Amino acid sequence: MDYKALAERLLPGEFPALSHFEEIYPPRALPEGAEVTRLAPSPTGFIHLGNLFAAIANERIAHRSGGILYLRIEDTDLKRKVDGAVEAVKNALRYFDIKFDEGAEIGGDNTYGPWYQRQRAEIYRAFVKHLIEEGRAYPCFCTEEELSALREEQTKNKQITGYYGKYAKCRNLSEEEIYRNLDAGKPFVIRLKSMGNPENKIRFHDEIKGDITVTENDQDVVILKSDGIPTYHFAHAIDDHFMRTTLVIRGEEWLASLPIHIELFDALGFQRPRYGHNCSLMKQDGDTRRKLSKRKDPELSLEFYRKEGYFARAVKIYMLTLLNSNFEEWYLKNPDAPLEEFKFTAAKMSKSGTLFDLDKLNDISKNELSKLSEEEMFAFLRGWAEEYGTPAQKNYFSDREKTLKVLSLCMGVGGKKRRKDFTTASQAMKFISIFFERTPREDEYRVGGETKRAILNGFLERYDPADDMQVWFSKVKEVAAENGFAAETKDYKANPENYKGSVADVAEVLRIATTGRANTPDLWTIQQILGGEETRARVQAALTAD
Ligand code: GLU
Repeated sequence: MDYKALAERLLPGEFPALSHFEEIYPPRALPEGAEVTRLAPSPTGFIHLGNLFAAIANERIAHRSGGILYLRIEDTDLKRKVDGAVEAVKNALRYFDIKFDEGAEIGGDNTYGPWYQRQRAEIYRAFVKHLIEEGRAYPCFCTEEELSALREEQTKNKQITGYYGKYAKCRNLSEEEIYRNLDAGKPFVIRLKSMGNPENKIRFHDEIKGDITVTENDQDVVILKSDGIPTYHFAHAIDDHFMRTTLVIRGEEWLASLPIHIELFDALGFQRPRYGHNCSLMKQDGDTRRKLSKRKDPELSLEFYRKEGYFARAVKIYMLTLLNSNFEEWYLKNPDAPLEEFKFTAAKMSKSGTLFDLDKLNDISKNELSKLSEEEMFAFLRGWAEEYGTPAQKNYFSDREKTLKVLSLCMGVGGKKRRKDFTTASQAMKFISIFFERTPREDEYRVGGETKRAILNGFLERYDPADDMQVWFSKVKEVAAENGFAAETKDYKANPENYKGSVADVAEVLRIATTGRANTPDLWTIQQILGGEETRARVQAALTAD
């Protein structure tokens, strides 16, 4: 067969010499040991914990070694492409402080771009043409129907499905048949002519899993689709070579494709990057462990963490705990250190499925949030509200001084005990909402009817916002005594039968009237922050509400 003529017929025209690409994408001038890693998402709009898991590992390894992390967009499959997906990837990763050095919409050095695979079609085609010329790739005219019939037959016979060996019908077409099909205008794809034998095992060193054995590829995979765009497998091999990637950390779901990738790198005459296949994140579901699922587990999506307002550092701490077996110990010793100081290594990465437990993350989150100063908390909550808050919530930040007071009171800053019950920004925002909005009542009055009204009226008659805490409280005691409640708790405890209740019950009525809640931080302070007018208006409104 005249492969050169066939290549010219299939991909006509002048292509740059392959050496041209070696020249324009020269080896990177980086110090010895510097790793070039990448994140290569498809622009599907769904960016998940697995991506973050890989991103943190790639970022740490690149930057700890003085290397480069770049962002490549694998957009060869148009059907899966979603508008705004690249922005979504970037925003999601920026939130977790993953810094790219180069790549799609990143700026930085563009020597190794373009970063969208669709913009690199010329490079891929040049290599496809070369493989055809060498007899390592061939046109396949099989239709979708033929391929699905083949799949069915193989499934029925309990054989491995795919286009290989005796099933690779077009692999053995004669020159004449090929040209007849081409003359008839039949659409075609280009397939790799695999030289592998599934009887052969290849020993492979995985940077995470260690030495493993994989089966040689014998699938004649599609490398160029009928629209002239390559498949992911082919494009990624070319790109990892010319972007001078040294190490690929990716999800273990790609392990199954590794034999294909090994054969492609060999066929192209490229040296492979090193690979590390990251374990999957599992979830305990009753008695079984299963992979986190897009359909069942909202926490798989990175969007979830931002919408809920998780503190990015907390999520990273938890991810690092799962990623590196020695992280937890380091973190216990260095709870406040920048996470970059941890010596992340691929060798310490978990080899098999790790359990992802939202409760553990929540504990870390509470702990980390309790370390923030009012100012830091202010910035964190405002950042969340700007993106996800209601218009009313955005307004919580217009009076800085007031909000700082609220945060100090609610977080226990400055006091002996820091509160550790906020997991997320959305939770904290709900907690502080009572200072900024008249929210619906959440708790029931335990004292109702006439007595409740008498307590509220008694309070309103005496209330003066200028009162200090002692005076304020003595007035509350007066209201208690006047309504048959013990002004002193100890009196109530000694003779409960003499009273309707104690001053604490009276304070609770006032608390619910002011905030809608039976449990709050100090009520005098709350009323001080709300101001006289608002306090009065709320208590007044509670007189007529149920
Ligand atoms: N585009 C693939 C993805 O969507 C990347 C696989 C790889 O990292 O090689 O995950």
